Parts: sequence; C-alpha cells; structure tokens
Amino acid sequence: MTSVLVIGAGIGGIAAAARLARAGYQVTVIEKNARPGGRCDQIVRDGHRFDVGPSIFLMPEVFAETYRALGQRMEDHLDLRRINPTYRIRFDDGSQITLNADINQMQPQLEAIEPGSFNGFLRYLAEGNLHYKLSLEKFVGRNFYSLLDYFSLGNLPLIFRLKALKKHYDNVGNYFTHPYLKAAFTFQNMYLGLSPYDAPATYSLLQYTELADGVWFPMGGMYRVIESLTSIAESLGVKFIYNAPAKQIEVGGDSAASDRATGVLLEDGRRLPADLIVANADLPYVYDKLLPDRAEAERIDRMKFTCSALMFYWGVDKIYSQLGTHNVFLAGDYKASFDAIFNDHSLPAEPSLYVHAPARVDPAAAPAGQDTLMVLVPVGHLDKNKSQDWDAMREQARRATLARLADLGITDLEQHLKFEISYTAEDWQQMYNLAKGSGFGLSHNFWQVGYLRPHNRHARYRNLYFAGASTHPGTGLPIVLLSAKLTTERIMKEQPLAQRHPASLPGKTAMEGVK
Ligand SMILES: Cc1cc2nc3c(=O)[nH]c(=O)nc-3n(C[C@H](O)[C@H](O)[C@H](O)COP(=O)(O)OP(=O)(O)OC[C@H]3O[C@@H](n4cnc5c(N)ncnc54)[C@H](O)[C@@H]3O)c2cc1C
Repeated sequence: MTSVLVIGAGIGGIAAAARLARAGYQVTVIEKNARPGGRCDQIVRDGHRFDVGPSIFLMPEVFAETYRALGQRMEDHLDLRRINPTYRIRFDDGSQITLNADINQMQPQLEAIEPGSFNGFLRYLAEGNLHYKLSLEKFVGRNFYSLLDYFSLGNLPLIFRLKALKKHYDNVGNYFTHPYLKAAFTFQNMYLGLSPYDAPATYSLLQYTELADGVWFPMGGMYRVIESLTSIAESLGVKFIYNAPAKQIEVGGDSAASDRATGVLLEDGRRLPADLIVANADLPYVYDKLLPDRAEAERIDRMKFTCSALMFYWGVDKIYSQLGTHNVFLAGDYKASFDAIFNDHSLPAEPSLYVHAPARVDPAAAPAGQDTLMVLVPVGHLDKNKSQDWDAMREQARRATLARLADLGITDLEQHLKFEISYTAEDWQQMYNLAKGSGFGLSHNFWQVGYLRPHNRHARYRNLYFAGASTHPGTGLPIVLLSAKLTTERIMKEQPLAQRHPASLPGKTAMEGVK
C-alpha cells in the first residue's frame, strides 16, 4: 500500500490525511506539538475556553464538502450557530456600525453615515457575489499545472473581472466615499493578515460571504472542527504521532540527481520512510529548515508575508455585556495603521483591534457569571533588520485595548482579570514554526496567488506535496480545507495507488519505519 507521511497536524494536514486515507493510502501524521490543530488551537484554563487563532467560521459549504468527502455529515459533528449581527465596529470618535445580514437593518445605519450609501452597499454586495462565485470556481477551487494554464485565454479576462490587479481599498471608493464605510468594508482583509491597500479588490468576496452565507460559530469552539476531523481521520486509519518534530525531509537517496523524497528524519533521530510526503507545516519554514535547497528557501523568504498578531487571552470574573461575539475597533488613521504593520513591521501608534467574546454565543466558554475574552491586535511580522521590542509592543497593545474598551464603559477590566495569557510574533514562530511569526503565511497579492504562489508539489522532488496556508489557494480555514482537497486530487492524479516508485523501500510504511 502506498505510504504517505504528513508533516503537521494543522487543519490542512488533518484534512489531507483523512482524504488520502479514505482513498486507500496508508497515512501517518507527525506533529511537533502534543495535540493537533496548529493555529486552530485552543486554551482551556479555570473554566475559560479560548480559540487561540481562528474565531470566525466562514464559508460553511466548504467545511460541509470536506465532511461529505470523508463520508460524513457536517451537522453530525458541528453544532453551528449563525452570528448575526456579524460584527460591532467602533470608530475612533465613538460612533459605530453593526454589520447585519438583514439589509433592512443596514439601510438606516449606512444612510446616517453617508446619504445614498445603501445603494453603494447593494452594488458592493453584488460585486462581492460575482467575485466569490468566480474565484471559487475558476481560481481558488482548482489546481493550475502550468503558467499557460493559469494565464490561459480563458482565464485572462477573469483576472480583470475579478479586479485582481486593483487594490481593495481603491476599489471600495467606487461604492462609498465616507472613510468609515470604506474601512468597515475592507478591514476584513486583516483576517487574512493583509492590508486593504495591498490586497486585490477580489477580496470584496469576504464581505459578501459574511453577510450572504453568514458568520458562524461551532458550539464548543473552533477546536471542535479539529477534534471532529481528527477523529474521522483516525477512524479512516490515519495514525497520528504527537511530540514528533521533523528535523529534515530526506531526499535523493544515494543519487545527487534523484527527484524523490524518501522520508523524514525526526528531531529525536527516528527515521520514517514514506512513498509520498505531504508537508503541512508552514511552507516557507519547510523550505528553509527541512529541505536542502538554499536558493529556493531564500527566494521564498524574500516574498511578502502576512502580518503577525499580538494576542491576549483574558479570563475575567464578570460579564461585559457591552461586547458582542465579534467586536472590531478601527484606528482613526486607518492608512497609517496598515503602513506601520506592513511597511515598518511594527505596531501602529493607534492600532485597530478585535475582541472575541465566545460566551455570548456559547455560554460554556466561560464559568457562569464570568467572561472569556480573546483580543487580537495586528502587528508586523518578525523582521531581523528592525529592532522590535516585543515586550514593549505587548504593553502598548494592552494599553490601547484597555483604552478602546473604556470607550464602551469597560473601565474595571484589570480589577476583574483572573489571568492573562499573551502571544507575540515570537510565540507564533516558536509554537507552530510559522516563518517570521507571520500568523497567516505568505501574502495574497497578485504575484503570490494562483500559479504564482508556491506550488502544492515540489518542483524537483515529485513525491513531495504541500497542503496549508502558504501554498495554493491560500490562508483561512476554509481555504486551507480547499488546499487539502486540491493537493489530494493532485496526488491521486499523479501518484495513483498502484504506482510505487522503485526508490521507495519495499514493504516499508511510515509506521513500520518508527524504531
Ligand atoms: C491570530 C489568527 C487568527 C485567525 N483567524 C482566523 C479566522 O477567524 N478564520 C479563519 O478561517 N482563519 C483564521 N486564521 C487563519 C487560520 O488559522 C490558518 O489559515 C489555518 O489554521 C492554517 O492551517 P494550516 O494547516 O495551513 O497550518 P498550521 O495550523 O500552522 O498547521 C501546521 C502544523 O504543522 C506543525 N509543524 C510545524 N513544524 C513541524 C515540524 N517540523 N514537524 C512536525 N510538525 C510541525 C505545527 O505545529 C502545526 O500543527 C487565523 C490565524 C491566526 C494566526
């Protein structure tokens, strides 16, 4: 049986492993940490349950497709609740807008900020709808096997229809003139770790899918997705080995000209041979630390990366009813805040930030009468050419968050804080091996998407595949699920079960290789 070794039990690794196992491959997943999930991790402490990274569940249909492909029904595993209003957005002067899937609730709010803007909103949603459907069908949901395939005569007009060469922030000006509305309909780029001044206008698809398909939350937390997919994978025969960091992908065997990866050497010295390898660990890290080709690693290192995030996980002993499930606080100088993050790789003097209060929708996320708060403050990624004082930035982010909460009348949070856990870019790097501590992987500007993004199969080692946020199609849980699907489809096309490369060790599977 063809053996597959998956490096990393992030959502991309788990989903790829489960799909391959269902297709008949013998799959082993090695994970550096003690549990699966990667960035979609959870922290449970003193009755408070935090989603470590993702807290916004979008594009439920993509999740449902994954469960279906594994012979399951999503509704048997996830109790999804729709979050509506989706967000409360607060501007620096204290005014606010609450985004709502009920457009009758949107009309008076929009017209109060900018007369006539409701019409712009409807047009913007229509464009988002077009971008969503076209990108999923023609770009995000398929593999590209050559540059010609990507820039084919059929695809070229789509690049213009999807406004892939136009910046998102410039484009939103076609629909709104008030800076608050332009901000309210572009800040969502931040949960892909992108600046709306750099992201393609294609990303209006996000605002569309949030309002049309909904923002959801699985009861029990985002980690339910990981738990359920892991147990499905196990039931399909996937073996998970935890606390097993890979040190090196072994390539080439005895021949310098070989185009095969032969297995993985673990940090603890164990050797795991495999017919195929799927690297789910962050792709730039894999090229840099696990593979020998320096030139390619350095080329990827020079690419644009998404931002990092300063995180606070606060267990508090009272409920702050001023907060909804998702709360966004936007910086007054919106542009300057992105320049600081993406050009200076620092923390803006006045940062935008996001506060998640999961107990609003799922009371079990906090002890009775108490609250669980997760704060995400976007910040520049690690940059060895800059002096970055993470302790100082963390302090500044904490003060900025408390000041914005005080605007809502939350002035006693520090007195009610039971504990605080915080993460900086250095923690993201150390915990999940994210290159530059970048929370969302490689960026998604025009030059780093589609065929131009690092491919999901290695150019030389033709049995080494990638699934995850930094390969095609990109970051975010549903998009990484699509990555797992596309990588699996590619493996099944290129490495059909019957075919075994002569270089692979006869009879040896990844598990049998564990000594
Ligand atoms: C703060 C934050 C907020 C986010 N919010 C959202 C959101 O609201 N909604 C959304 O959809 N997405 C969100 N995302 C993005 C989403 O979390 C990611 O796109 C997705 O989880 C990436 O999954 P992955 O499988 O590609 O990678 P990872 O989750 O990084 O998984 C890779 C795995 O590989 C393991 N690994 C690394 N090196 C090795 C090694 N040498 N050996 C063995 N194992 C190794 C890691 O420990 C990890 O478990 C957010 C991300 C962050 C950081």
